[in-house]
Amino acid sequence: MSFYLPVKIYDESDCVKKHGKELCSLGQRALIVTGKSSAKRNGSLEDVCSVLKENDREYVLFSGVEENPSVETVLRGREFGIAERVDFVIGIGGGSPLDAAKAIALLICHPDWGEEELYGKASDTTALPTAMVPTTCGTGSEVTGVSVLTRHSLRTKMSFPARIYPKLALIDGKYLRNTSKEILVNTAVDALAHLIESGLSVKSSPYSEMAVSAGLAVWRDSKEVLTGEQESSPEAFQKMMRASTLAGIAIAQTGTSIPHALSYILTYEEGIPHGRAAGYFLPGFLAKAPESLRERLLTQAGFSSVKDFLIYLQRLFGPVTVSRTTLERAFSVVSGNPAKMESAVYAPDAEILREIVYYKEENTLS
Ligand code: NAP
Ligand code: ZN
Repeated sequence: MSFYLPVKIYDESDCVKKHGKELCSLGQRALIVTGKSSAKRNGSLEDVCSVLKENDREYVLFSGVEENPSVETVLRGREFGIAERVDFVIGIGGGSPLDAAKAIALLICHPDWGEEELYGKASDTTALPTAMVPTTCGTGSEVTGVSVLTRHSLRTKMSFPARIYPKLALIDGKYLRNTSKEILVNTAVDALAHLIESGLSVKSSPYSEMAVSAGLAVWRDSKEVLTGEQESSPEAFQKMMRASTLAGIAIAQTGTSIPHALSYILTYEEGIPHGRAAGYFLPGFLAKAPESLRERLLTQAGFSSVKDFLIYLQRLFGPVTVSRTTLERAFSVVSGNPAKMESAVYAPDAEILREIVYYKEENTLS
């Protein structure tokens, strides 16, 4: 049993400004990695640039990282970072730019690597130091070593084996203020998926359970904010971020499991956002779990039964339809991956996996 999390976490309002000196201690010339435009709109980019300027640090911007970033994008980021002679990397945004920032930090130190070496087994983990400023409340990427990239060559998404832990995670709920309801809901369900998948992981330990229990208790407090029954507030946003970070701490120990593995195909084939795609399989994944674990996780998250949970997700997402061809491809990819099948405590056989895949379709209430 082990617990490893070499990330300094600040979880508080205005933490970028409050801990600017620590951020600047990572290097002299920063590569800032962002998505398309949200970091400009929610104030996170400005906060980071201000502290860099105040501390006489130079920076260059690699913006426009797409959702579900591709290997091609991070290779472009590497070329830019090398040409600009940066010595540390700051990821700002949702999981996509944060994951891209980790990959770029690694690739800058390996100028001759292509996709094959990145995904090869004997991966060297030398990378530039990184800091992460999350602006969604789902991936927990600010505390995990994982970076998930789209591999067009394989028509799916996949994390590469090297683990690139950020040095610093600066978590400020205020960046969620202007998020659309859709992004908030999609990413909050991603955090919930991490908590549930970690709780049902074969690698679960008292240490990861500690993060799962704490994460579910915090997640539960935002349940009604997500449905609109409760007003959002600065405290609620900070809690949503905290739930996501705790979920990240949990999956940093256990990894994700079957719902995530299935979700990658839904996202690749049908463009379904990550959290919504993982959420699609959660009720079925829970329904097939051992009763005691299922009941504990549902209760901690504030649900009375799988049906109650399914109804809640339906309220959040409305109808989600997925073609049979995509569901079949998801089934066949995951059933052919023994490591994934064995990642859940109850290691489903192909028949049970099929029931998980089709659970939502068969139990959705009209
Ligand atoms: P995302 O793909 O990073 O971003 C989704 C959308 O949200 C983008 O349009 C983005 O706009 C926008 N956005 C981000 N922050 C915003 C804010 N504060 N206000 C308004 N809009 C905002 O979404 P995500 O769900 O956070 O990340 C998903 C990715 O993370 C997937 O690739 C997934 O596989 C990966 N992931 C990684 C881990 C891990 O451990 N590393 C875990 C789970 C998932 P802009 O483009 O304009 O910024
Ligand atoms: Zn996820």
